[in-house]
Amino acid sequence: MSDKGRSVGIDLGTTNTLVASVRNRVPRIVPTDRGNLILPSVVALSPRGEMVVGNVAKDQIVTNPKNTIYGAKRLIGRKFESKVVQEMRDYYSYDIVPGPDGEAAVSVGGRVYRLPEISAMVLSQARTIAEQFLGGPIGDVVITVPAYYTDSQRQAVKEAGLIAGLNVVKIVNEPTAAAIAYGFNRSLDQKVLVYDLGGGTFDVSVLQLTGNVFEVLATGGDTFLGGIDFDNRIIDFVLERFKADTRVDLLTSPIAMQRVKNASEAAKIDLSLMQNVTLELPFIEERKGKPVDLRVALSREQLNALTGDLVDRTFAICDRVLSEKGITRQMIDEIILVGGQSRMPLVQQRLQQHFGKPPRKGVHPDECVALGAALLAESIDTSIR
Ligand code: AMP
Repeated sequence: MSDKGRSVGIDLGTTNTLVASVRNRVPRIVPTDRGNLILPSVVALSPRGEMVVGNVAKDQIVTNPKNTIYGAKRLIGRKFESKVVQEMRDYYSYDIVPGPDGEAAVSVGGRVYRLPEISAMVLSQARTIAEQFLGGPIGDVVITVPAYYTDSQRQAVKEAGLIAGLNVVKIVNEPTAAAIAYGFNRSLDQKVLVYDLGGGTFDVSVLQLTGNVFEVLATGGDTFLGGIDFDNRIIDFVLERFKADTRVDLLTSPIAMQRVKNASEAAKIDLSLMQNVTLELPFIEERKGKPVDLRVALSREQLNALTGDLVDRTFAICDRVLSEKGITRQMIDEIILVGGQSRMPLVQQRLQQHFGKPPRKGVHPDECVALGAALLAESIDTSIR
């Protein structure tokens, strides 16, 4: 570490942001002030008129949706008129408006914020968390971005870092950071496939690792395929079952829908460990003045049947990305999993069938991007001393 403070890596995610730093050559995630390892990438205008970040902001997503900005990563560095931004306008509850240079911006509480300003609030919070934990100002910072990001998206993230007062020495691709977490200082000569199935997006990349050189050979994905689609399948199933049993339609009740949504995601996560779960939501609605409870059983087998086509879609994308660059499945030496949804047993099972080898154990899907970024930040720091 140099005198200017410890280097950190930041995984600025669509849903969550993670900060990592290296101590005694081992990268570790920095815990937040609430003791969590993740900071929700959410910014909100509180009813008291303050801009708040993280869990406090996320907590008001249902009660104050117009003033709660999430998913900024999808908008940053894009033109307001672009197709993605126009699609997002229907999808998100907050107001997406044209910014000063024609880029997408957001309007909250009557004020227009540029996306780098919004991401800067998340980064600023990440910085405070790191400084509190590491006991002083931080030094060099590496921030990760998706491999498909254009120059203007990268520039916008860099600008967000500057607004947050960070010394951003590098913007690195997420799959590269994940591969660094796996192969740094291990003198490998391998082709590694990084399979990243997160909350809202799927990305696949193939990297060539040669010593400490990490080159992206192929990359692609789907910006509208992720954990949320798995949740939606469960939600539809639960709503249908509930309606068949009680003749009550929950679609018209936003509070009930939010509860079903949360319970569906929780059930999905539990089914990664267990074979059967029961979604139980007491007093979900009233019927003829009497409370109605929701109770729906779901097995892993049913979940697999409900979502198998989504998993298949990821493999169609993998095959396309590989074949575009003339890479065969047999040429892949290791598979690294990134993103919470990649923990689903069906995903891992199908990966093994598809590529003829199991994904690499020991690389943490949620943490490896931030850990790799921290290793890179530290190595840049040491190399320029
Ligand atoms: P990420 O964007 O990487 O934070 O991924 C978040 C997504 O992963 C969300 O859709 C979560 O519901 C999902 N997820 C997290 N843990 C698990 C798990 N153990 N099994 C299945 N999905 C999970």
